[in-house]
This record gives sequence, C-alpha cells and structure tokens, in this order.
Amino acid sequence: MALVNEHFLKLPGSYLFSDIAKKINTFKITHPKQDLIRLGIGDVTRPLPPACIAAMHKAVDEMGSEKTFRGYGPEQGYDFLIEAIIKNDFAPRGVHLSAGEIFINDGAKSDTGNIGELLRWDNSMGITDPVYPVYVDSNIMCGRAGTLEDDGHWSNVTYLPCTEENGFVPEIPDRRIDLIYLCYPNNPTGTTLTKAELKKWVDYALDNDTLLVFDAAYEAFIREDDVPHSIYEIKGAKKCAIEIRSFSKTAGFTGVRCGYTVVPKELTAATLTGDRVALNKLWNRRQCTKFNGTSYITQRAAEAIYTPEGKQQVKANIDYYMENARTMKEGLEKAGLKVYGGVNAPYIWLKTPDGISSWRFFEQMLYEANVVGTPGVGFGPSGEGYIRLTAFGNHSDTAEAMRRIRNWLK
Ligand SMILES: *Cc1c(COP(=O)(O)O)cnc(C)c1O
Repeated sequence: MALVNEHFLKLPGSYLFSDIAKKINTFKITHPKQDLIRLGIGDVTRPLPPACIAAMHKAVDEMGSEKTFRGYGPEQGYDFLIEAIIKNDFAPRGVHLSAGEIFINDGAKSDTGNIGELLRWDNSMGITDPVYPVYVDSNIMCGRAGTLEDDGHWSNVTYLPCTEENGFVPEIPDRRIDLIYLCYPNNPTGTTLTKAELKKWVDYALDNDTLLVFDAAYEAFIREDDVPHSIYEIKGAKKCAIEIRSFSKTAGFTGVRCGYTVVPKELTAATLTGDRVALNKLWNRRQCTKFNGTSYITQRAAEAIYTPEGKQQVKANIDYYMENARTMKEGLEKAGLKVYGGVNAPYIWLKTPDGISSWRFFEQMLYEANVVGTPGVGFGPSGEGYIRLTAFGNHSDTAEAMRRIRNWLK
C-alpha cells in the first residue's frame, strides 16, 4: 500500500484564482453583454522582445543541423547565459559572483518552491504577510508549516505583518527563525525596502544564523535609487541569503520559462552535530539529480535580453507597464482611494474604503464597475481589507478601468 504524504491534505482546497474565476463566470452568465476589464491576474501581456525572438529562431535552426545540434546541456545552465547575468545584473552593482554560484532555472516558481528541500522539515520559518502563496504552500507540503489554525495562520509559521501602520515594512522578529522568505519589490503590495531596511534583515540573519530566501522577481521594475536590486548589495548577504530571479515579468517570459537562482559558495547551514555544510554543493547535487536544465532555445532567448537591443526592448515594455501603474495610482487617488505600491513594481495595493472586506469590495467592483481585481486576503491574513491591481494590461483598458471606478465611487 502506498501511503500518501498527508501534509498535502492540509493544503487549503481551492486556490485563490479559481475562486475568482468562478465569481467572474457567475457574473458573465447573469450579465452576458457587459465587458469586464481584468486587472487581477499577474501575467504579462506585451509580446516577447524581438531580440529574444530572433535568438530563438537562430537556436531552433541550430537544433536542426547535425553540426550545431545540442542535446542535454549542463544542469546548472549554459556558460553564455551565466556570464551575461554576472556581467549585467551583478558586476555593475559591485556584486562579484562566480559562475558556479548561478543556477539557471525554468522560472522562479520551481526553485522558490523547491529550495526548502535543502533544509530539515522541522526548521522554523517566517514570511512577510501578505505574500506570494508559494512560500507557505511549499512548506505546508513538507510539514514545515505545521497545522492551520482557526484564524487562518499556520502554527509553525511566523507572520511578519506588512500593513499601512508600519508602511509595509515588516518588523524584525523578536526571536530567532531558521528560514525567512523576503520578496522585494513585493508581490502583492508593490512596496519595497530601502538599502537601510534590507540591511537590518541581513544583520538579523547573520546574528541569528537565519537563511534568507530573497525573491527578486520584480527587480527590473525598480525606479528609485535607494532600493537595492540584489540582496548581495548588502554586506554579509552572501553568508546568509539565496536570491531568486525570473525573466517572466522582466522580459515577458511567463510562457517561455527561465530565471535563475544564486547560491553563494560562502553560504552554509548546520548539521545536527554542528558541522557547517555549503548549500551551494547541496543545491548543485539536488539539481543534477532532479533537473536536466532549461532548454537551449530558451537560454539563448534569455541571453538576448542582455544585448543592447534586448535591453532597450525590455525597458520599453517595462516603461509601458509602469505608465499603467502611474495611470492607476493617479486615477485611484482621484477617486478618493488610498493606494500603495506602483512606483517600483507593477502592482497597486488598494485599501478598501470604510473597512470593507477584500471579497466584498472585489464583488462590488466586479458588479458595479465591471473591473476585476484580486482580493488581498488571498495573499495572507494581513491582506484583508485590500485589493491588488496589476499594471500588466494595455493603456486604454487601464485608463477605462480608472474612469469606471471613478464614476462608480462618485
Ligand atoms: C511571478 C512571480 C514569480 C515567478 O514566476 P516564474 O514565472 O515562475 O518565474 C516568483 N515570485 C513572485 C513573487 C512572482 O510574483
């Protein structure tokens, strides 16, 4: 008899976006003629940069010829891409990484979900709240999160609330935690940490022997100078942090699938007897066993992001989305709403008026303004009373959505 991993049974049954889809379907059945503007789901809409398309075509042709065909590549990724990453994403910021510290992945979700395999199941963990659901769910699956309590919290997870009161800057924990996930710029709040604020986390991690998993999927959207692009800009971070990046939001790779994970050679964790083990070695071993690399064609596409044309094209797409973010921020503020984010991230975190719940405001906005958002409470208990809107739409829909919301709230 095969016994199941019963931790999976603890996972909350239905997923946020399927609940939203059900509510949208109900609306559509009762209002077949009304058109909806969707500012809910966090997927990009701009097509791939032409530089990436050209690189993929060329790579496809190479695959079609005996002389240039490529089979299995290195599990860690091809050197051409790793070198482009080191040279463009880190060296200009004074961060020196070696090729062996970068692992090309098939998008950040897999590695953010899998990285916990390197640690015993009984480590304590912490997350900022609200946050990208993968961190908690992947820890529920291995039993690390404990059990779900009545108030929506997991028993072995320390929640670090990010609220209006603390300016969405989580407080440093008053006790030690083994593993903490940070995501900046943040999904869903769209807020960031300054260098000084991130330094407090690195110092905490060094003092408490904590492993930080730093998800920088939205790094390319940073506009302000004082916001760190990489956690390794903070001194000491190579001793305490893994950083995960993605080309999904940066360059429209949500359907292509590529990103990378940085595991510095200096980074260690302990055995029960107190010996230190390099996590880079463990992750490499894990990848060699369970992963056979991102496709060659995809890695050539990612490499093209770093060419002069690629950089320009990526910037144009990000500027396009950030123009939406500005339209949304201004439009919602004019409608008398309180909004956060949208400056260094493609997300607007809207506070519902009069303390209305996330789901109630979601339904009102759906039925009365025909605009779809994402209920903030779906990202964690501290998201209650907020709605996430994304800047990934097109300009005219985004502007029209703001008109609808303004007329509705008048
Ligand atoms: C979109 C997203 C990712 C990664 O997505 P992939 O497409 O798997 O690279 C990772 N973290 C956060 C916070 C995200 O919003």
